[in-house]
Amino acid sequence: MAENDSEDDFLSSFCRYADEIDMSELREGRRSVCDSCRRPCTVCWCPFLPRQPLQITTNIYILQHPFEESRRLRTVPILCRSVVADRVTVLRGKRFSLKKYPWLADVFQNPNTLLLYPGPGAVDLCQLPGVDKSQKSEVLHRPQGYNLVILDGTWAQAKGLYCQNDALKRLQKVQIHHREKSKYVIRTQPTEGALSTLETAAVALSTLEHRPEILEILTRPLVALCDFQISHGAAEHQSREYKIENGLWTKPLTRAMQRRMQERQVKPEEDCDDSFL
Ligand SMILES: [Zn+2]
Repeated sequence: MAENDSEDDFLSSFCRYADEIDMSELREGRRSVCDSCRRPCTVCWCPFLPRQPLQITTNIYILQHPFEESRRLRTVPILCRSVVADRVTVLRGKRFSLKKYPWLADVFQNPNTLLLYPGPGAVDLCQLPGVDKSQKSEVLHRPQGYNLVILDGTWAQAKGLYCQNDALKRLQKVQIHHREKSKYVIRTQPTEGALSTLETAAVALSTLEHRPEILEILTRPLVALCDFQISHGAAEHQSREYKIENGLWTKPLTRAMQRRMQERQVKPEEDCDDSFL
């Protein structure tokens, strides 16, 4: 979950840039598009994927808000291409009923199913027992793999998905605390600690599977993409939170944003409500 409410400036500049490339190539009669990522070859991130998809023990279920699919640039496709295919399932929609997806009952009833969603009752991911790589069932309290449910969309969209799907409310909620800023620097993130969906999954996987290298491997295409964009004139974006605090935010503040900033000033140590988003 996690790409935020204020992507307009990035998206507009990126789309303009991509369109310019498309148009110039069309004019020259040589539009070349990567068959894999479907991006123009000039902005293809495929060479930065791992040579072989990563073998992981966690099953990832991305519940994607339908509006997220319509974006030109998303980070979930990078995740899907980076790990073995049978470990990632992407479902798009607003309601994920068992009538429509009967197999989800097993996922939702599994005690090792986790929902990445911060807030009251959410357990810090690093406090959970790591997966049991020995494959010995007698090792108690160490699952052989987790199911990780991630809501993909803006914070408001993810909240909507959570509120409209009661089954999600019964899952064990988990959150991550990642000290580094998002590498998705060409997009304005809502808070300093906000992460893209890909980065959220990468941090969660590397924590659950005790494999720190996963974080770097999964985010390499994202870093390459941002480096490429910046080298071609895209501006590096500060978070919305940073801009507001430093008087750089030029749009009206919504009530929720005002409340958040007030809370941040009063109790900065508790500003973790959506810190992993
Ligand atoms: Zn490609």
